[in-house]
Amino acid sequence: MNILLLGSGGREHALAWKMAASPLTDRLFCAPGNAGIAQEAACSALDLTDHAAIIAFCRAHGIDFVVVGPEAPLCAGIVDDLEAAGIKAFGPSRVAAQLEGSKGFTKDLCRVAGIPTAAYERFHAAAEAKAYVRSRGTPIVVKADGLAAGKGVVVAESIGEAEAAIDMIFGGELGAAGAELVIEDFLSGEEASFFALCDGETALPLASAQDHKRAFDGDKGPNTGGMGAYSPAPIIDAGTSARVMAEIIQPTLRAMKAMGAPYKGVLYAGLMITPEGPMLIEYNVRFGDPECQVLMPRLMSDLVPALLASCDGVLKSLDLRWHPQSALTVVMAAKGYPGAYAKGSVIEGLAEAAAVEGVEIFHAGTKQDAGRILANGGRVLNVSALGKTVSEAQARAYAAIARIQWPEGYYRHDIGWRAIEREK
Ligand code: AMP
Repeated sequence: MNILLLGSGGREHALAWKMAASPLTDRLFCAPGNAGIAQEAACSALDLTDHAAIIAFCRAHGIDFVVVGPEAPLCAGIVDDLEAAGIKAFGPSRVAAQLEGSKGFTKDLCRVAGIPTAAYERFHAAAEAKAYVRSRGTPIVVKADGLAAGKGVVVAESIGEAEAAIDMIFGGELGAAGAELVIEDFLSGEEASFFALCDGETALPLASAQDHKRAFDGDKGPNTGGMGAYSPAPIIDAGTSARVMAEIIQPTLRAMKAMGAPYKGVLYAGLMITPEGPMLIEYNVRFGDPECQVLMPRLMSDLVPALLASCDGVLKSLDLRWHPQSALTVVMAAKGYPGAYAKGSVIEGLAEAAAVEGVEIFHAGTKQDAGRILANGGRVLNVSALGKTVSEAQARAYAAIARIQWPEGYYRHDIGWRAIEREK
């Protein structure tokens, strides 16, 4: 098959690396891609918001299958448009992608289907929202309804902070994403992520992971897109995994089907593991970044037939095999990220780093220039490693990082600390 992958981050490099290894892949294309993906795929500078241009590219290059990495094109209906043009595509329809695109939609679905999640209400006006906050007390969580690139959630410790968040969101700071908001109770526990592959009817559990959202060691500093991750998440044991499937994932698939919007694609559940059991914080409708960079190294089976089975509704007959090892990834970011940062610095030592046992390097914001690799974004590299334990995977990842020369970059030194404490 000729396959087109859409996206340009570390997630897409991990997907490209895995799909390029499939005997089903004839030619692999990627748009727009990055310098690492260019080692696996032919990259093209397509605009992902221009669905007509993507369809024209598919026709010109005989593309049989399109795999969509990020959420924005899914929420904008890229899968619907490709399918209308007769091109098979992996991921949910526009309506089904509301599981990520609208927090209110997901909360209402949880209410109807009896899925465990924090108590909530939806609001269109600040006065009612503020009255609700005062009636519930603090801590309380204020969320913009739409896609806000990680900026739409405020965990408020005081009424004043919650009111400021309501004014910020309704004040237009997040654009259309803030036309509506959800206010929900604060949940305490440990957070973890759970991934399932879905075909509208059947959900196949993939694996669990945990990530580190804060920029600096000790889970301090500003929130980022993710500074590292590991899989599996030790807190999700077999019993919890079975509960997540039975109480959260499967009821979601049944509810989506009943509403005429069967869910196909990866369903990524952000969970709070509370003393009462797993509760849903949010859904994402694609692989996580950096979680994908630990899932792909652990997947022993071929990825391409699994993605095709999701599209074709035949997941019931599919079985995936996983390496028993743990995987861990450390993100290397440009100094200043998630604030302002410079582009264009030179990165060296990548081949030496990739030679460390069990290590795979996935590029995020990089570009190639006259044979050199240059930083070209905030999150720049993912250094992933497999190991018998999280501790071994961590040691290998940091041994690889020690071989990379990039003075303009920074990374956390404690990725996986929670799992490593448990291993001690
Ligand atoms: P979300 O985008 O909904 O995943 O929210 C981003 C982050 O905010 C989550 O990863 C949690 O750390 C935190 N968060 C969101 N909702 C809650 C909640 N109800 N209780 C506690 N923390 C939350």
